[in-house]
Amino acid sequence: MLRRGFWAMRAAHQSQNAAYSSLAGSALLRSQAYVGGRWVEADGGGVFAVQEPASGQRLAEVADCGPRDAKAAERSNLLRKWYDLMMKNKDELAKLITAENGKPLNEALGEIVYAASFLEWFSEEARRVYGDVVPTPSPNRRILILKQPIGVASIITPWNFPSAMLTRKAGAALAVGCTVVVKPAEDTPLSALALAELADQAGIPAGVFNVIPSSKSNTPAVGEVLCTDPLVAAISFTGSTATGKILLRHASDTVKKASMELGGLAPFIVFDSADLDLAVAGAMASKFRNTGQTCVCANQFLVQEGIHDAFVEKMVKAMHKDLRVGSGFDEQTTQGPLINERAVEKVENQISDAVSRGACIVTGGKRHSLGGTFFEPTLLSNVTTDMLCTQEETFGPLAPVLKFRTEEEAVAIANAANVGLAGYFYSRDHAQIWRVAEQLEVGIVGVNEGMLSTPEAPFGGVKQSGLGREGSKYGIDDFLEIKYVCFGGL
Ligand code: NAP
Repeated sequence: MLRRGFWAMRAAHQSQNAAYSSLAGSALLRSQAYVGGRWVEADGGGVFAVQEPASGQRLAEVADCGPRDAKAAERSNLLRKWYDLMMKNKDELAKLITAENGKPLNEALGEIVYAASFLEWFSEEARRVYGDVVPTPSPNRRILILKQPIGVASIITPWNFPSAMLTRKAGAALAVGCTVVVKPAEDTPLSALALAELADQAGIPAGVFNVIPSSKSNTPAVGEVLCTDPLVAAISFTGSTATGKILLRHASDTVKKASMELGGLAPFIVFDSADLDLAVAGAMASKFRNTGQTCVCANQFLVQEGIHDAFVEKMVKAMHKDLRVGSGFDEQTTQGPLINERAVEKVENQISDAVSRGACIVTGGKRHSLGGTFFEPTLLSNVTTDMLCTQEETFGPLAPVLKFRTEEEAVAIANAANVGLAGYFYSRDHAQIWRVAEQLEVGIVGVNEGMLSTPEAPFGGVKQSGLGREGSKYGIDDFLEIKYVCFGGL
């Protein structure tokens, strides 16, 4: 029944979907790999299909690269023009994201502006890769410290921010003079290929920026080449912690520099002293952006007992008022489909586990009547720390709420995770703000703020959320080597 509803919806979307059909002839809709400055078929000519999650429609058949293609790619530099071209083509690039990822068009546009901002930021940072001249104890010597590009960098990106996760890495790498080979996620290769087209138009030299899309079946072998080939100096990965560990193991054999932006389990703590309306607004932004599919999404809401009931009530009201599920191309939509069926099953599984252990579904709780991979925004109360939804990343529109009594208890629950990417808390008690900001074991803290990402600030996690930082003045370090030159005989 549900399936039939979905196919009917799909037909309706297809016929209404002017945005999709306008993409069909787009010069930015590329399907071949981009290697050495040329658009090429995969070795052996294989392809894989890219589908629109909202309608199930086939968007493109993309070259399915294998390990032999991964070995062919190479080197150099240029950014500002690439940024300008991204901004000039932002509407078309945003449509591509909405088509292949499903997120609402205005969020996709936000992602393009955010993604482009990394090219702008690193085009400026490229002029500030300073070395040092260090005071020396020996009068006949000078100590010089040079910073040099590390060499070829492999970049593997996820589907949830198919443009921004790419430019955050490639912008830094190209700024310092590295060359890159990018492997985008199977679900969203079209955004990466469009960026290759614009890199080409910007005049980035052939071989500097390469994109090798691959299907999930080829990915492990391609990933192995990208992490083990002796020509590769660094691997920069964004994705799940499980995949990050595989790549780190591969990279260890040739001792490559590795930067890892991995999964999180963000706590969102609301203390009794919080400004309730501000906390609800922050919770909505943090939880439901990209339909709950961001690595910094609030994963569990810890709410102090004095404010708990009021928070749940206001949050549910806001969810009913502000969230609209539908195709990302529909202007009213705030919640697109989940990326694929596996993602839906994970959310369903977490909900049924929580309910079986005593949680209550306050709103939502099941697949949306639109069918496909659409899911109802859901809030669970009576949640406890033995439930899966507090132990593993959800990556969907599920807000589990736990009640706590003391600050120590909330911090202990938050810090029990073996990952630590983002954490949020709301409080108007200044002493508490300093204490909790310092105690939370995460790389990014939002104090009375639910939206944190900006190119000026360092992005990254502690514990099993990763290694290194992206964006900010620190983001180029992953692509640089430090060389000490001892200048003697003076
Ligand atoms: P994923 O399964 O780890 O996939 C991410 C990328 O790795 C995709 O390109 C994927 O390709 C590739 N991949 C998977 N297995 C591989 C292997 N054995 N060798 C080489 N590459 C491999 O993660 P996801 O589910 O797509 O993304 C969601 C995760 O990313 C979440 O955990 C989220 O928290 C994390 N994330 C972190 C950040 C951050 O900045 N810390 C930002 C965004 C997302 P295929 O698509 O072909 O499988």
